[in-house]
Amino acid sequence: MRVLITGAAGFIGSHLCDRFIREGFYVIGMDNFLTGSPNNIAHLFGHPSFKFLHYNVVNYIYIEGKVDVVVHLACPASPVDYIKNPIHTMKVDSLGTLNTLGFAKLKGARYIFASSSEVYGSPHVHPQPETYWGYVNPIGPRSVYDEAKRFSEALCMAYYREHGLDVRIARIFNTYGQRMRIKDGRVIPTFIEKALKGEPLPIYGDGLQTRSFCYIDDLIDGLFKLSLRDGLEGEVFNLGNPEEITIIDLARLIVELTESSSQIVNLPPRPDDPPRRCPDISKAKSILEWEPKTPLTHGLVEVVSWFRDRVGLSL
Ligand code: NAD
Ligand code: UDP
Repeated sequence: MRVLITGAAGFIGSHLCDRFIREGFYVIGMDNFLTGSPNNIAHLFGHPSFKFLHYNVVNYIYIEGKVDVVVHLACPASPVDYIKNPIHTMKVDSLGTLNTLGFAKLKGARYIFASSSEVYGSPHVHPQPETYWGYVNPIGPRSVYDEAKRFSEALCMAYYREHGLDVRIARIFNTYGQRMRIKDGRVIPTFIEKALKGEPLPIYGDGLQTRSFCYIDDLIDGLFKLSLRDGLEGEVFNLGNPEEITIIDLARLIVELTESSSQIVNLPPRPDDPPRRCPDISKAKSILEWEPKTPLTHGLVEVVSWFRDRVGLSL
């Protein structure tokens, strides 16, 4: 079985490449290194089951030979990254989705789209089930990401309905783990770096906003199951950990785990920062037979140890 993974040099993509290879697949990884790094996949170069294509998915995609599964992960995922690259973000989750869907159709491949909890925007329903349509500002700074994910989901469903393509949509909630860029601006790498350096942890707003963080190994299990199970055409699944925490409690937890003397500093709130975020994963539990196994504290211990060795390097 051959799988194409776009965004292969990114945080999630690189772990997914590892998993597919370990399970006996041949992996074609594609990336343009916008927010990913060759370091994340350096261990795979020269592997007989891995080929890397340095390519921008916004352009027409063609690869010789059969491809059984396409996983479209390419897209900046950190708000700092996508707000810095607004047009690229909209292209990669519109033209990039179109190109990868067209390629999957040509090959008769199954198609997995990496969507996001951001499709729910600032939700009025809590926790968020897949049936909730969301509450999204179409012109705010986050809209380049949120609306591109929503457009991509609609495009996936159009390919499913018009062409019968086997598409599956994963709405991924905040995921953390090894290989995140320490300076990518997302909350966990930022807090860990600051805590390890003894610098203040910056909190946007009062810190009472919540997130629910999923450890990378758990997410990869979910994505892998979603890719392999038969009979899930046109289905959408929340993939995330329902263990919800306020950002201020997250900051305190990271200070404690790193035995840091860092203080917390409050900065002005970010525009359209969702106040609450927690997945309802009943559907994934019952149909995919998937649920996360790693409590936040356990995952953070692993990640702190990984970052501790790298905090001096600008990864
Ligand atoms: P990441 O930024 O680490 O990885 C994205 C990868 O895509 C990078 O390697 C980047 O270089 C690549 N890329 C960007 N534009 C490209 C292009 N035009 N052509 C080829 N490659 C391109 O982010 P991540 O956390 O690994 O997220 C991966 C996917 O999962 C994204 O689609 C993201 O929206 C989705 N997601 C992630 C999270 C999370 O918490 N990590 C949550 C929700 C959704
Ligand atoms: N956040 C923060 N300080 C930081 C980075 C993020 O307080 O240095 C907050 C941010 O305002 C949001 C939450 O942490 O409420 C998660 O932010 P992140 O950028 O990780 O992802 P998001 O869930 O917003 O996409």
